Amino acid sequence: MEKRNHDRAASLSVEGLGAIVTGAGSGMGAATARLLGADGARVAVTDVNEAGAESVAAAIRDSGGEARAWRLDVSDRDAVARVVAEVADWAGRIDILVNNAGIAGFAPIDAEGYDALWDRMLAVNLTGELRMVQAALPHLRRSPSARIVNIASTEALGATAGDSAYCAAKAGVTGLTRALAVDLGREGITVNCVCPGPVDTGMTEAIPPEDKAVYAKRRTALRRYGRPEEVAHITVSLCQPGASFITGAVIPVDGGLLARNA
Ligand code: NAD
Repeated sequence: MEKRNHDRAASLSVEGLGAIVTGAGSGMGAATARLLGADGARVAVTDVNEAGAESVAAAIRDSGGEARAWRLDVSDRDAVARVVAEVADWAGRIDILVNNAGIAGFAPIDAEGYDALWDRMLAVNLTGELRMVQAALPHLRRSPSARIVNIASTEALGATAGDSAYCAAKAGVTGLTRALAVDLGREGITVNCVCPGPVDTGMTEAIPPEDKAVYAKRRTALRRYGRPEEVAHITVSLCQPGASFITGAVIPVDGGLLARNA
């Protein structure tokens, strides 16, 4: 029995674990949900865009996995509490929380409407992640391998002009990650943060392909945008039971954007 527990603790598989992913109806959240589902987790696919969540959950089920969709706006505290309770009932457990939902928005700080942008950005991109952890914590505490992965951005570690609200919220995510890693470490709950660089998703689809190509060639070591799956692989690796000694880490997955000076 001890041997089996040991094997389970070192496992690279999330099979049989309960997972909840926010913003999973598109982009990196969808890729993360699909990977978790393909590896045998019971995946709660949540998104404010219900149709997106439904189609991702259906795709996981069509591939033989277990998934259910929920409409969830992470900035709605009551909805977060309700949906997390429903997910726990459905999955029987919550071992994995991936805080991925996010919005983008550029404006200089003296622009009209900036304060509303700031409030919304913090509510979704930072406070939303906190609310999810608060709601999921009682369930995570019952897991032998509880994992929280927060999605921030390279904009948490540097800044693009006009992106102050987003940068502040995402830098807050890195601080929250470290603080929660310290607070929850004694319980064996790991909390890590992934900082994607430029990735082809819904968030970046309005940028013309030629502009993306120019930017990627000029700024990244790999000279290209990333694919959602290339970030999801790192996120899911942090969710594995075997990822038990990494916590409080802030991990760029950016094609070498931060490494490159010229
Ligand atoms: P995406 O737009 O494809 O996916 C984001 C999802 O979040 C969407 O399905 C959207 O409906 C959902 N969402 C938005 N507001 C929500 C809310 N209030 N509650 C619940 N869901 C909500 O974009 P993506 O690039 O896959 O974004 C995933 C995460 O990655 C975000 O946190 C984003 O900030 C971050 N990120 C993206 C990039 C990039 O280049 N694409 C770079 C760095 C970080």
